[in-house]
This record gives sequence, structure tokens and C-alpha cells, in this order.
Amino acid sequence: MRGLMQDWPLLCSKVIDHAAEEHPLREVVSQSVEGPMHRTNYREVRERARKIAQLLEREGYQLGDRIATMAWNTWRHLECWYGITGMGAVYHTLNPRLFPEQLVWIMNDAEDRLLFVDLTFLPLVEALAAKVPSLKKVVVLTDAEHMPETELPNAVAYETWLEGADGDFAWRELDENTAAGMCYTSGTTGNPKGVLYSHRSNVLHSMMAQSPDAMNISSSSRMLPIVPFFHANGWGIALTTPMAGSALVMPGPKMDGASIYRILTEERVTCTAAVPTIWLMLLQHLEAHGGELPDLERVIIGGSACPRRVTEAFQNRYGAQVVHAWGMTEMSPLGTLCAIKPEYAGLTGDDLLAIEDKQGFPPFGVEMKVTDDANVTLPRDGKTFGRLKVRGPSVAKAYYKNQGAELFDEEAWFDTGDVAHIDQHGYMQITDRAKDVIKSGGEWISSIEIENIAVGHPDVAEAAVIGLAHPKWDERPLLICVKREGHNPSKADVLGFLEGKIAKWWMPDDVVFVEEIPHTAAGKIRKTALREEFKSYVLPTA
Ligand code: AMP
Repeated sequence: MRGLMQDWPLLCSKVIDHAAEEHPLREVVSQSVEGPMHRTNYREVRERARKIAQLLEREGYQLGDRIATMAWNTWRHLECWYGITGMGAVYHTLNPRLFPEQLVWIMNDAEDRLLFVDLTFLPLVEALAAKVPSLKKVVVLTDAEHMPETELPNAVAYETWLEGADGDFAWRELDENTAAGMCYTSGTTGNPKGVLYSHRSNVLHSMMAQSPDAMNISSSSRMLPIVPFFHANGWGIALTTPMAGSALVMPGPKMDGASIYRILTEERVTCTAAVPTIWLMLLQHLEAHGGELPDLERVIIGGSACPRRVTEAFQNRYGAQVVHAWGMTEMSPLGTLCAIKPEYAGLTGDDLLAIEDKQGFPPFGVEMKVTDDANVTLPRDGKTFGRLKVRGPSVAKAYYKNQGAELFDEEAWFDTGDVAHIDQHGYMQITDRAKDVIKSGGEWISSIEIENIAVGHPDVAEAAVIGLAHPKWDERPLLICVKREGHNPSKADVLGFLEGKIAKWWMPDDVVFVEEIPHTAAGKIRKTALREEFKSYVLPTA
């Protein structure tokens, strides 16, 4: 017997309709690329998104066409997501921090037909547009007044373009499994792989993301996504926030410590999300210039492991709860978040921080397990680590063009490439990327754990650990540190700091100080580059 409930497809257009109908005047505030702060609301966002959809259809773009965006988080970028998905096309967020050749490769792989681009990236697009034959048009996210001269054959200013539509457009009624968005994985090895979100996965992901143990967003929140929309589906925030009816505050291109402090305080932001690098920058700014964060309730930190000193500073000094989160482009991206269950509610001080070092537990809709190499599930004992595997309605079941098929098994488990353990209360902790784990004497050493502790040293700004070949142990850890400006720690200082905090046999065999640690376009440590740089380095113990 079938249920007798309505078949109401889970579409992105339903999200903006809900926001525009039920929270029409809720603020959408952006730092514009042109300079001033810009203020609008969900009703106006929907109105303008309809114009985009109308224009796209009129100009012959079709269901399933990939429409790229290379843009900061602003109201215009938000309108594009809803305009594109509302007529059945697919938003494809491009990361402008990639090398031009990578961008050309990705755009050709996706066969992007139109590109919405911010003024900042116009020179980049001018340099690569000719190498992307599928690209028919470029819409520059600005108005006539700020539109620069450009040699691009078919370029128009966004505001001028929108004047050509009246917005009389009904969202297309689509199957909820229709593709809605696309984002390429960073591809540290081999070519990047395309992840193709559906309307359904996006909507379900937003429902899980807004729940209390996840992002905990409601109509009284004021959310500032610093994580760019082009990083891992923008952590889903472009959908979650309107769904919750929360105010949305966006930083545009200004992501330095001073600007973030200003927008957090002036816009009375209650909840924000970004990678650890951003928070280290903000905390440095606050240390140097002073300041308080009276409205901030919650800071969602993910993308790479959150150093304990960041959690400690936000919670103990600034009174904002840190929510450590783990996810992947392939997971829309939320996988786990570290809220505190009753089982851990009594903890304080370092005991609590030790739990918050973990990446946490999944919301409804994500299943996870840790297995050994033979796919045997490992115990949830908080120490046995192995391959982390996941499945659920907002987890990819394949990559675009079926690349990387070996990562998905017949029961739909996706091998994340992360190494982790899960404790008896279901809290997962990442110990490494599978390819970064250090294999010493047949045992595994977690590079992430050593890095986290090392950056807790007051004179260390950033730390990375890699495994180097060793004649006896196979591999041994090398700790690479960047000193904090104006500080001069010695090797012995740093090693002394680690003592007692990690097992003896995890102790790095050497410490080197460098000016800079290389990062990926998403701001993560580029271990491949470090391994290359130090490949002929001989450890003193070797
Ligand atoms: P991306 O798809 O670019 O967001 O990268 C996903 C990868 O980032 C994951 O597979 C992890 O290796 C890493 N990652 C994300 N969040 C965390 C976290 N909180 N702690 C440690 N690693 C993380």
C-alpha cells in the first residue's frame, strides 16, 4: 500500500519561494565588489532571480546546461544560483584561485556555456575565454557605471542585462533528481573530478544543515558565510540560510582580519563559517588591535582540522561556541559536526577541548563507518583508525563522466580517502588523508594530530608534518613550521612542547623552519608540494 501524501518535488526554487513568502524582508547584506555595503532581502532576490531565469531561457539556454560562476559571496551570486536552477540549468562554481590551465581544463570538461564573473576576475577570464569553445557569453556582475572596457566578444554588465527582463517567469517544474549544481574537487592528484548535486540532494542537505546539532540556523540568526560559494558547494549555505529564514551577510572580496571583524560587529552576525586559516587571521587581528564579538554565538570551522588554540580563543576569550565540522565536496559538503551530546555535557577545560578536537557526529542523512583495507568494519573505540566511508542522500554516487568509479562500492559506500576513528559515543576524528598518513614500523602516525599540537606553540604560526623515507622504520615524521612574526623558537623548543602530548614514537625526527607553507586553492596545506620539496632531505636519524 502506498502512502497518500503529496508528491512535492524537493527543488531549489521551493527554497527561495519559502524565503520570499515567509521571510520576505529578511536582510541580505553584502560587501559589494565596487565598494559600498549593499542591502536587499529575499523578496527582491527572488524577483531578480526570476529575471535571470527568464533571460537564460529567452537566450536559448536549456535544461541541464552548465552555467558557470566565478564570484565572491554577494547578493548577485546568490541570485544567479536561484536563477540558474530555477530554469533547470546547473550552476557551476569556479574557484578563481586555481591555476588558469586548471580552470580551462575544468570549464572544458563541464562545457560551460555562460559565465557570471565578478569584476575582480575579469582579467583572468579575458585570458582564458578563448580556450573554452563552449563559452558563448560572459555576464559581468556589476552595473553599467562600473563596467570596464573588455575585449571579450559577448560580454554585458549584469544590471544592464537584467533590465531586459520583467521577471514574469514561473519556475520550471522539474524532477527533483535533476542536476542543480556542480563543483569540482580540488584534485591534488590527477585531474579534478566533477561532483553533480541534484535539487533533491541540495534541499535535503539544507534541511539537515539547519538543525540544532548542525549549523543551528533559524529565522533569528544572522549568518555570515566566509567560506566562498565556490568551495565545496559553499557549504550549502546559499540554500540553508534562506530555508531557515535567517538573515544572510556576505563578505564579498574582503576577507582580511580587519574587514571580517568589521562585518561581524557592524552587521551583528550571530553565526559564521570558514576554514581555520581565516580564524587564525581574525584572532591575530584581535590580539593586535583588541575588540570584542558580543553578538557572535557560533563559529563553524571546517575544511581542515581546527587547531585547539582557535577553539579555546573563541570559547574562552570571546564567548562564541565553536562547531568543528568535517565534510567534502562529494558530500554537499556536510559530513559531521561536533555538537556536544549529553554523554559529554559535563566536561570542562582540556577534557572538553579534547572532544572538540574531534570532527563530531553526522546529522540524520549521513551514515558512516571506518573499515580496514579488507572492508571489515572497525570497532567504535576512539582509537582504532582506518578508512572512513560514508553514504546518504546528499553524498555523490558517482563523479561526472564516471571518473574515480573505484571509490564507490556496490552498497553505495563512498571511500572518503580520509583516515579516522570513531568513539563509543559516535564522535569521529580524522587522523589523516589516506595518502598523508605516516607509516612507521608497520604502525600509522597521524600527521594532523602532530600539526594541531605544534600550532598550539605560541611561537609557531603554521605547521605541517610529512613522512620521509627512513632505512629502518620505512617512514618517519618531519615537522615543518612557519615562525610567528617577531618570534624565534628553536627546534628544541618545539619538540619540547610536543613532549608528553603525543606518543614517544610519534615524535618528529626533525624540525625545519620555512618562510611559507604551500596551500591549495581551497587554503589547505599542499602536502604533495612539501613532499616534493623535501624529497632529498635526509633525517638526522636516517
Ligand atoms: P574539500 O572537498 O576540498 O572540502 O576537501 C575535503 C577534505 O578536506 C576531506 O576529505 C578532509 O580530508 C578535509 N577536511 C575537511 N574538513 C576537515 C576537518 N574538520 N578536519 C580535518 N580534515 C578536514
